[in-house]
Amino acid sequence: MKVFSVVGISYSGKTTTVEKLIAELCRRRFTVGSVKNIHFEAFTLDTPGTNTHRHREAGSSLVTARGLEETDILYPHSLSLGKILEFYDQEWVVLEGVREGNFPKIVCAHTEEDVEELLDDSVMAIAGQLANKGLKEYKGLPVYNALTEAEALTDYVMAKVPRRLPDFSPQCCNLCGMSCRELLAAILRGEKSREDCLLRPEVKLTVGGKSFTLAPFVQEVLAKTLTALVSTLDGYQPGKEVSLVWETESSPRG
Ligand code: SF4
Repeated sequence: MKVFSVVGISYSGKTTTVEKLIAELCRRRFTVGSVKNIHFEAFTLDTPGTNTHRHREAGSSLVTARGLEETDILYPHSLSLGKILEFYDQEWVVLEGVREGNFPKIVCAHTEEDVEELLDDSVMAIAGQLANKGLKEYKGLPVYNALTEAEALTDYVMAKVPRRLPDFSPQCCNLCGMSCRELLAAILRGEKSREDCLLRPEVKLTVGGKSFTLAPFVQEVLAKTLTALVSTLDGYQPGKEVSLVWETESSPRG
């Protein structure tokens, strides 16, 4: 999965840029998902008086509105981006307004001052209203008008964005000699590639459907141990996903 984010202040052209990129990626026959960050504090789809709201008020901790054309699972809190992305199996996911996380970013802006506020080494391009002023480059970053240059912007995104990188703290992993965020910046500068992330294969742990992030050295020990075990089995195919599932005993309540 490849993930990138389009960030910027209100009315800077973020949604138009996202819309154009999604449409162009779909036209190229990729599967695409998206996430829209909403900063409005009072935002909720579950308004007082609706049946789903009555379920929640009665104590249901997870409510689903199941319609004929749409299913909305209403979590009563903000989920982490990592958790949200677990629902996605698309080839591309476009984030709008998400500033956190180890993802390449496109900054949409009205002015160069707006760009400066969001500029860091995860930024790969500039777009939005600023592109209407005829600017083609800013501090070495290309400036795209998503309305007239959607194809060129998509070509650029496809060339730049690596497969989703981990986001461990430097204390947790520096197998590649840098932090995950430094490796992303180096990839965007063209100095490194996704293959320079030495954490492989990635080992994921879920308990009762809930995912846990394992420290890289734990992943490495588990991957090596399990590979040694399964590689002796008939039909073992190197490079294929291995999954091991078992049920734990539940302890009676009360
Ligand atoms: S090897 Fe991969 S997981 Fe480890 S620090 Fe580098 S990029 Fe992050």
